[in-house]
Amino acid sequence: MLLEGKRALIFGVANNKSIAYGIAKEFKAQGARLAFNYLGDALHKRVEPISEELGGDFIFQCDVTSDEEIAAGVEYVKKEWGGVDILVHSIGFANREDLQGRFIETSRDGFKLALDISAYSLTALAKAYEDLLTENASVLTLSYYGAEKVITNYNVMGVAKAALEASVRYLAVDLGAKGVRINGISAGPIKTLAASGISGFRSILNYIEEQAPLRRNVTIEDVGRSAVYLASDLSSGVTGEIHHVDSGYNVMGIGL
Ligand code: NAD
Repeated sequence: MLLEGKRALIFGVANNKSIAYGIAKEFKAQGARLAFNYLGDALHKRVEPISEELGGDFIFQCDVTSDEEIAAGVEYVKKEWGGVDILVHSIGFANREDLQGRFIETSRDGFKLALDISAYSLTALAKAYEDLLTENASVLTLSYYGAEKVITNYNVMGVAKAALEASVRYLAVDLGAKGVRINGISAGPIKTLAASGISGFRSILNYIEEQAPLRRNVTIEDVGRSAVYLASDLSSGVTGEIHHVDSGYNVMGIGL
């Protein structure tokens, strides 16, 4: 049991297809205690049964665009747990119209929204939970290859993920003084609610099946098992890192 008794706070479960659900499931299998945020009433009724299924300790509301909700969440978690050993940030959002066509058309508001929810929220949560994070705690976020290279239609989310990955490196320095580690997983494409907003997503899945070294797409369980490594003491010397869980696709140049 690699995570026996560790308190893992999971942000970003929307349903049982969510990457955060795959992570929570693998954490549970390794003995972690779990708690989940939810975004508004619509997701409350989806997250509650998932928390019950996985034996979660509690759920709490937190929209990461609201400093008030973040602060209220911290108070709630402090009351319930007193401390946090693992924090998972599995959150992203951009307007659908910004996930198609030309990147150059991105509006100022669309850009701000995508960067606020998908990148800034990691720093906001890290700061808000800084005092609750125990020594040797591990923070994890989710990124995508669109941060590094151009992926058709990923557009503003690629820019947000680049900001997210840079944030991981800067936060590693700030949190590292106390022994807290922070890393990102760059996951291959997986059919989830968030992914359904990206125009032509099915074609990306097909392309990966043909081109990736493993000739398959990754699953939320693949991501969950790598998350166990990064959350556990097995990765005690690793921080500021972006770890690809993508069937090896990122190593490809030209594959004929
Ligand atoms: P998902 O739709 O299941 O999860 C996205 C989550 O973000 C949802 O739970 C949603 O409630 C949450 N969220 C959105 N706006 C929020 C807000 N204002 N406050 C709080 N929560 C908010 O989809 P997913 O694919 O599991 O996405 C999880 C993470 O993984 C995202 O960062 C995504 O970019 C990343 N990722 C996804 C893929 C993929 O192909 N699915 C690949 C690489 C990385």
